[in-house]
Amino acid sequence: MNTPETQQFDVVVVGAGAGGLFTAARLAHKGYRTLVVESLDKVGGRASTDEIDGFKVNNGAIVIELGGITEETFAEVGAKFDIRMPSPPILYSIGGKNVDVTGGGWGFLLSKLTRQGAKLVSGLGAARNDSGMPEDELSTAEWVSKYTKNEGVHGIFRNMCASVFAVSSTELPAKVFLTYFTRKSAFKKFGFHPQGTIGVWQSLVESIEGNGGQVWLSTSADRILVEDGVVRGIVATRGGVETTVEARVVISDVGPSATLKLTGDDAVGADYAAQVRAADRPCSMIAVNFASQERLVDVPGMLSFAKSRRLAYIANFTETCPEMAPDGWNLYVGGAIPEPSVGDFDSDTEVELVMEDLRDAIENFDSRARVLSVNVTRDGWPPQRAVAGFDLPNTTPITGLWNVGDGVKEFANGGTTACAETAKIVADSVIESFPLVHLS
Ligand SMILES: Cc1cc2nc3c(=O)[nH]c(=O)nc-3n(C[C@H](O)[C@H](O)[C@H](O)COP(=O)(O)OP(=O)(O)OC[C@H]3O[C@@H](n4cnc5c(N)ncnc54)[C@H](O)[C@@H]3O)c2cc1C
Repeated sequence: MNTPETQQFDVVVVGAGAGGLFTAARLAHKGYRTLVVESLDKVGGRASTDEIDGFKVNNGAIVIELGGITEETFAEVGAKFDIRMPSPPILYSIGGKNVDVTGGGWGFLLSKLTRQGAKLVSGLGAARNDSGMPEDELSTAEWVSKYTKNEGVHGIFRNMCASVFAVSSTELPAKVFLTYFTRKSAFKKFGFHPQGTIGVWQSLVESIEGNGGQVWLSTSADRILVEDGVVRGIVATRGGVETTVEARVVISDVGPSATLKLTGDDAVGADYAAQVRAADRPCSMIAVNFASQERLVDVPGMLSFAKSRRLAYIANFTETCPEMAPDGWNLYVGGAIPEPSVGDFDSDTEVELVMEDLRDAIENFDSRARVLSVNVTRDGWPPQRAVAGFDLPNTTPITGLWNVGDGVKEFANGGTTACAETAKIVADSVIESFPLVHLS
């Protein structure tokens, strides 16, 4: 039996996903002795990359936003931000053509689908003022229905909700959609990492370690230690050894439900425990990773669909990032959400509908494409831990314990951008509540 160990840090971060690493990078940069523990043998969580026969295949997030809080964080902590933007970033498949609406805005996009686009554009314009915002209960699909029944318009809105929020337009509150597209950065500029998305996080790890922090892989947090409502650290298993890490601050990136399992109900109180359980409504997504020697999709980056059964987009990685595939190969992913996008669904049926869409989009798909993997992400490993608009707060009833990541997003944000935002808010709270001078 191995002897238990005890170590001390200022901050322990549980989970090396986007939220955890953004937070750790910020705090290590400010001088906090920071430890990240990650149960897997690699970083990135649901935005990481697997090697499959020489292809760098993303297991989750594919595009990273440029020019927003993500890029700002990299600049602040001095990490290398190697994201390549396709030009134009996105085309829309409308009536069999791949249409570039860059610079034309909503009006131009909708004019390609319907003559009635102007009313919808004015509805979008009205949402820039609070008085033009719909009431909370209205879904995005219901809001669009007020203006048009056009199938292509509904398809575009459905696939935008799927791409950014991993839910259907029937599940996403219109208020979230409209806030995001009229008042936030709205993923207008984005790109891919040449090493696959894992490269983004490896760069943050370099920054954390350069600032004296540590990242322990293959180390699972088993418990969060709490005494009289105050966090004391964690107990983790590292290389078969039970290790107690004492710290006055614990940041959890595993989502509020999994955090609750680590603290136990008694530590947080019945009300908060019930709130966490009620809010546990993860989304789902299907990704088909495929490759080919001939070019199958004539776009520099993303292709979104106006009409599809399930397919929201196809991304072409190798046009900007040839490093992601062996010489002479192209690498793509088709991304879709099932129906329903929240709750139970039949995986086989839903995957088959995505394959049908791929066959419609790409002639002779079955003989020309080599399918590398089909990933159905759901339940404990979802594309978003909470439907946008229904997130829990990042604070907990325990002093010194915060959640970060996509289960505690700010209103109307999604994906890794939302994780960068939660990390900034939580890191700022830590710096304010636990100034370095009071630690150690
Ligand atoms: C198919 C798909 C496509 C997506 N596309 C995009 C996109 O293009 N752009 C975008 O911005 N976002 C996208 N997203 C969303 C994005 O991937 C997530 O929002 C983000 O990665 C979530 O990060 P996180 O830090 O909240 O959590 P996670 O990535 O889940 O990180 C949590 C980490 O904690 C670890 N862990 C769990 N329990 C323990 C424990 N007890 N001890 C130690 N470690 C533990 C896990 O292994 C994991 O690494 C996509 C997601 C999916 C699935």
